[in-house]
Amino acid sequence: MKKLSDRQLSNLTVAFRKRLDKGESLDDILPEAFAAVCEADRRVLGQFPFDVQVLGAIALHQGKLAEMNTGEGKTLTATMPLYLNALSGKSTILLTANEYLALRDAQEMGRVYRFMGLTIAAGVCTESGRSFTSAEKKAIYASDIVYTTHGALGFDYLFNNLVTTASDRFLRDFYYVIIDEADSVLLDSAQTPLVIAGAPRVQSNLYELADFFVTTLIRDRDYEKEENKVWLTEEGVKYAERFFQIQNFYEERFFEINRHVVLALRAHVLFEPEKQYVVSKNDEICLLDEGSGRMMPGVKLRGGQHQALETKEKLKISQENRSVAAITYQNFFQLFPKMSGMSGTIADAAEELRKVYRTEVVVIPPNCPVRRRDLRDMFYRDAHSQYNAAVAAAAMTHRKGQPVLIVVNGIRETEFVSKRLLAKGIPHNVLNANNAAWEAEIIKEAGRANAVTVATGMAGRGTDIRLGKGVKELGGLAVIGIGRMGDVRLERQARGRAGRQGDPGFSCFFVSLEDEVVVNNTPQKWNQRGGDRKRISRRRLKKIVNTAQKTGEEFAVLARKQAMEYDQILSYQRNLIYEIRNKLLDGEGMDQQKFLEIARTNIKKFIATQTSIDGSVLGRYILDHISYRLDEEIREVSQKDPEAVEEYLVWRVRRALAEKKIRIGSRENLYYFMRIAALNAVDEGWVEQVDYLQQMQSAVMGRTSAQRNPVFEFHKDALEAYQRMEADILNNIMRNVLLGSVYKDNEGRIHIQLP
Ligand code: ADP
Repeated sequence: MKKLSDRQLSNLTVAFRKRLDKGESLDDILPEAFAAVCEADRRVLGQFPFDVQVLGAIALHQGKLAEMNTGEGKTLTATMPLYLNALSGKSTILLTANEYLALRDAQEMGRVYRFMGLTIAAGVCTESGRSFTSAEKKAIYASDIVYTTHGALGFDYLFNNLVTTASDRFLRDFYYVIIDEADSVLLDSAQTPLVIAGAPRVQSNLYELADFFVTTLIRDRDYEKEENKVWLTEEGVKYAERFFQIQNFYEERFFEINRHVVLALRAHVLFEPEKQYVVSKNDEICLLDEGSGRMMPGVKLRGGQHQALETKEKLKISQENRSVAAITYQNFFQLFPKMSGMSGTIADAAEELRKVYRTEVVVIPPNCPVRRRDLRDMFYRDAHSQYNAAVAAAAMTHRKGQPVLIVVNGIRETEFVSKRLLAKGIPHNVLNANNAAWEAEIIKEAGRANAVTVATGMAGRGTDIRLGKGVKELGGLAVIGIGRMGDVRLERQARGRAGRQGDPGFSCFFVSLEDEVVVNNTPQKWNQRGGDRKRISRRRLKKIVNTAQKTGEEFAVLARKQAMEYDQILSYQRNLIYEIRNKLLDGEGMDQQKFLEIARTNIKKFIATQTSIDGSVLGRYILDHISYRLDEEIREVSQKDPEAVEEYLVWRVRRALAEKKIRIGSRENLYYFMRIAALNAVDEGWVEQVDYLQQMQSAVMGRTSAQRNPVFEFHKDALEAYQRMEADILNNIMRNVLLGSVYKDNEGRIHIQLP
């Protein structure tokens, strides 16, 4: 490859594609294609991939999850599998952790793809607040390679399935995807649903009442809390029944009361200010990403939880919108025939990933042996001595000029540390994941001599810390961690900030019994201040902390599994509906015979549900479903047996349809109209269903107390709801087609108005 001219090198793209057309597989051309990109990388970027990067690239091409340490060069690694897979002509996408990285990498790596004659685009807007038009999106996703974020792509997927004409669809069929920081996306964000909100719902007035009710409850008597669940005890349920003056809290007709109480209870017990959310300057609830403390403006809790929080904080209650489309990342990624990912820390979760996503983890060796020393944890009984010791260690390291990165669990903790550093007169930067671009700039500098940086776990992720001049000699970057992290992966990520590409450095964690993971996952007796705690031996201390972290991790795995179980049913139903939609959009799935079948099913159902049919019942049905014109013979027909009534109604349907056809001119036009009418009916039914399931889920999750299996109940309810929706859709198709008005104007355009 080295001997080829630039022109010859880029011409290989055409040659490779020809070979694929002739039947060779991507695997067949992998060695040559990779070699070509490596050479392009060298010519365009001045970087020639290391052997280990090629290994990583092969794993990515094979649809595996590659564990590659920070600083190993994942961005460059991705150029190989992206190029190779894009040769197939199918959709090839790289997902970064945030918009800043998508834009940055698309710009930098984009030069290589363009050099090789491929098209590339970034799927996120440079101007914040603006969003792409459909036409722009179409152009972006038509590119050979797309760099974007998982959020942007997920929403685009949902929007793509809300369009009303085939030409408005802008996504190509999914094929290959590489997920950067895959553990964070596939595990930590897995449960976050992407929800598209639609028309507002009638505002409920139960929020305030439920909120007040909850403030009168007493923990452990009226409700119990465990990990991130809270529920009413039997005592609490009885009290609720007295309070709201209802007989049975769980009865269907009191569903709304039940739902609002659950929401208010969660708002008060599970949501802490500064931890899960902050109240922004303009008096809005702004959620925080728990891993990083990052603010997530615009993200709203679903199913009324956001409104319950607003009520708790005595803010103005925002409009509760219907959910028109929703998907969780877990299900979203199942849509890709070929999914791969990379991360510095993913091997710890290999088993879960294999089970949930059926994907293997491959650990890629580092380019240079790791020289970083990971020191043993320091254990403390309380937070006070823990912070003092950690800051003292940081100060000592700083005195030698060695750069120090202090990693903590949350925003509040960054402030504790910052105060102590100020007291010692040590200048430092604080990063709490508010602004990715700005943080990337700061974190780049964190490796300079004398630098002290305090950061939450995720701050500046994706940007590596290079050592400044002379820092190697001082011992490299020092990572000082305060507090056990909720997950071993986060801890390894923090450590991995030091010692990139064989640099020296060390990491050390300071943990205590007051760390959040420990408090949340340890029996009460160790949690009490004072007496007891003093008598705990060092060994014991260590054991308590380690066990707590394990327990926490297991809880998280369980929670993710449960979320998946909830979501499975929605996912199943969504796939069915999207399939039907796509068929209709593509001009299939609806003709005269199909329509008459639907009509007959509806009519049969109608007749079966009537105890007796008289002239007025029959007349009503015809007016609602078939025609605005009533005939004389209705009264007479209604006297006859059910079969005769059925035949009469079907005959009316045929007649109505025949009239439509005459008005509209041709069979093609009729079918087009029927498809639009059906699409509308499907969408209406599905939107209701999504919204209902979202609400159901938040209500059901609070039912743990009543000794039932909530997942099972949810599935059962969801199935019944689906059947109801199906019946509604079929009825509405008939209604839309027969009662909708349609005409052709002088220029032959069809105008449709649905009832
Ligand atoms: P990661 O995402 O794995 O932490 P990056 O992709 O940010 O790492 O790369 C880290 C740094 O190493 C970047 O500055 C990149 O330009 C550089 N780099 C990566 N691969 C090579 C290579 N083969 N030769 C030279 N520099 C490289």
